[in-house]
Amino acid sequence: MYNIAIDGPAGAGKSTIARQIAKRKGYIYVDTGAMYRAMGLFLLENHISPEDAELISKKSQEADISIVYENGEQVVLLNGRNVNGLIRTEEVSNMSSASSVNGDVRKKLVELQQKLAEEADVVMDGRDIGTCVLPGADLKVYLTASSEVRAKRRYDEMTARGEECDIDVIKKDIEERDYRDMHREISPLKQAEDAVLVDSSDMTIEEVIEKIMELCD
Ligand code: C5P
Repeated sequence: MYNIAIDGPAGAGKSTIARQIAKRKGYIYVDTGAMYRAMGLFLLENHISPEDAELISKKSQEADISIVYENGEQVVLLNGRNVNGLIRTEEVSNMSSASSVNGDVRKKLVELQQKLAEEADVVMDGRDIGTCVLPGADLKVYLTASSEVRAKRRYDEMTARGEECDIDVIKKDIEERDYRDMHREISPLKQAEDAVLVDSSDMTIEEVIEKIMELCD
């Protein structure tokens, strides 16, 4: 199996890029953030506090998260229910970030991710793919951009959808999530030693895709 790992902070463009690379290579795209988001949604629906680690460990075991593909798109199933349309809110973003520090949550989802990569050629994006989920990946990319650029991208996306938002709040949220992802005890976000650093701050999507395609070759 050929495995490509793409890690980096929120809003660096990982999912857009990884999806395109998968399409060009004919591989499966695995969005691991969507799995943590489905878990975040489950915990929110069950009114669990992000601070209650013990209860998160216990309750998370009742969440059956799986992935299926429909028309080439990843669909996340939470206890059999398609939750793709429910996991992109700021509320779920914050809960998934808070609950992803939990070791029991991570163990459960990492096992699922490793299984997917054993069964197919994948482009997998997340925070700990190169360092923890697929340490033997054939290509590892650490994709980043400045927090200003990432906040602006998110702001443009949301306003294009007609959502009202404040760029300063988005930037603050992004920086808080970065801090939590980079400083958590288990599998913090960091560049794997053998990962190639790509800073997309001043690059177009097409330029980033070309760069990674070159690295694959
Ligand atoms: O990538 P995305 O923003 O959708 O991920 C949602 C949250 O899930 C992140 O803020 C991060 O805390 C967590 N996550 C993680 N490990 C991964 C993917 C996502 O901890 N491999």
